[in-house]
Amino acid sequence: MPSFAVFLDRDNTLIFDPPPGYLADPDKVQLLPGVVEGLKLLLNHQFKLIIISNQSGIARGILTHEQVIAVNNKLLSLLKKENISLTDIMYCPHHPEFSSASEVECRKPSPKMIFEAAEKHSIDLRNSYIIGDSFSDIKCGNNAGIKSVLVKITLSDEEINNLKKEVKSLNFVAGNFLEACKFIAADFTEENS
Ligand SMILES: [Mg+2]
Repeated sequence: MPSFAVFLDRDNTLIFDPPPGYLADPDKVQLLPGVVEGLKLLLNHQFKLIIISNQSGIARGILTHEQVIAVNNKLLSLLKKENISLTDIMYCPHHPEFSSASEVECRKPSPKMIFEAAEKHSIDLRNSYIIGDSFSDIKCGNNAGIKSVLVKITLSDEEINNLKKEVKSLNFVAGNFLEACKFIAADFTEENS
């Protein structure tokens, strides 16, 4: 039985990341509305859950790997209390202004983290999805050839219209995380019935 995944952006998709971003304090980790219910729905549909996150604060010298890992671990512990476990968390610490061209290859909108995760966890990308709140998430999904769902958290209506013009496909715009997961569950069921 092939496995399939929903790739998840972390900041402002699963957890609050108020401006200026670069969340470093695990005590400030807070799940966004609908995240627990949405992830449970995806797990009920046998999706693997994999976070792929840009953490350029590391290249910028604003964050350390230890701080990013501490925030990730806090997120994992909040989810574990709800009996939700993730398959993997991947992050790209680089940024083009501070890193070499080869280092920055992992950074979304590059699909590299998705391809690496697919290889590592034997994931069939034809039945996989990405959920995120930004241009780079949707472009990353397009670049990997998977369906892309935007959660309307940080982008304005105008920005979303611009995004739609820029990308090959944006499969759904959800008002919150649970809505995004309901779209995926319904779409997956329809594709595989
Ligand atoms: Mg984000």
